[in-house]
Amino acid sequence: MKKIAILGSTGSIGTQALDVIERDSGLQVVGLTTNTQIDLLEKQIIKFRPKLVAVMDKDKAKILQDKIRHLDIEVVSGLEGLIQVGAHTGADLLITAVVGMVGLLPTIEAIKNNIDIALANKETLVVAGEIVMNLAKEKGVSILPVDSEHSAIFQCLLAGKQAEVSRLILTASGGPFRTCTKEQLEHVTLEQALKHPNWSMGSKITIDSATLMNKGLEVIEASHLFNMSVDKIDVVVHKESIIHSMVEYVDGSTIAQLGMPDMRHPIDYAIHYPNRADAPYIPKLDLVKIGSLNFEAPKKEMFPCLTFAYDAIAEGGTKPAVLNAANEVAVAKFLNKEISFVQIPKLIHKVMEKHICIFRPSLEQIIEADEWTRKYCREEARV
Ligand code: MG
Repeated sequence: MKKIAILGSTGSIGTQALDVIERDSGLQVVGLTTNTQIDLLEKQIIKFRPKLVAVMDKDKAKILQDKIRHLDIEVVSGLEGLIQVGAHTGADLLITAVVGMVGLLPTIEAIKNNIDIALANKETLVVAGEIVMNLAKEKGVSILPVDSEHSAIFQCLLAGKQAEVSRLILTASGGPFRTCTKEQLEHVTLEQALKHPNWSMGSKITIDSATLMNKGLEVIEASHLFNMSVDKIDVVVHKESIIHSMVEYVDGSTIAQLGMPDMRHPIDYAIHYPNRADAPYIPKLDLVKIGSLNFEAPKKEMFPCLTFAYDAIAEGGTKPAVLNAANEVAVAKFLNKEISFVQIPKLIHKVMEKHICIFRPSLEQIIEADEWTRKYCREEARV
């Protein structure tokens, strides 16, 4: 039995991971967590019978504990609770499917306890990639990407040696505003931004896809995961989202991974790695039906967040953590209808300019930079 814990089991990736796990009798769920969705978590508890669950919200944790008192399953709360579920439920694999910086400390604690990570929380590597990858190496822990692009690259890298790789090519759908003019972009609504053309995902990542920040964060994530300098990572817009990413080798051969846009595919691959499991429930690719695949360069002027991400990783130190925190606050403000779509990059840019970068930061300095950014964005930065 392979034992699995999931941080963020009630979110988009979490529920799809449980859908994959449910179909394989060789997998056992030992821990689950939610931010606030205790009704859905209760259903998951009844179905999967984990040992321990955590609820970020302390009041909701108490309500849930009362409701499931008859089941002999402990409910813990807060970040401490997330850390406990991630690192101390005897899991062989931790799926980190929470959104944002909150995934960082539980992931580090799990690595320290020799638990392999199926990484769906890209912010962890964006803010502290060097620390996390070095620790994983030291502990002999595998970091298995769940992001579709990184899963694709991970699979394409099996075709050659690291020294033979000349370029990583991440594909991007371009989001719902790919064909908008600059003028139209000024007036797009929250509802329009939440409609992703190909993927069904949570609201934060859907907005990140619309601004191209998601691709920027993925470039940073890829540079850490695959130990690749950022000037060897390119982005190409591919509106069909059929090619999930590519690896170019020194001989000019390019290996691509293709599949229908269904997140259960990279989740399934990470869970079963190094094996491949039979997955009849995932729709197969019908290239004749799809007909054609299209490619274009990203519109960097219209969507400056992609360039901000390249700049942040090129500068290094605490800059990517600041980029990430500013983005989390900006997206939250947009989801709250406090700022417009085009104000998201403006706010991020303002904060990045203001921040004085610390090079080779400790974990504490990264967390401080994150906290400074959130405070500055909320209280001082006006766009
Ligand atoms: Mg992705």
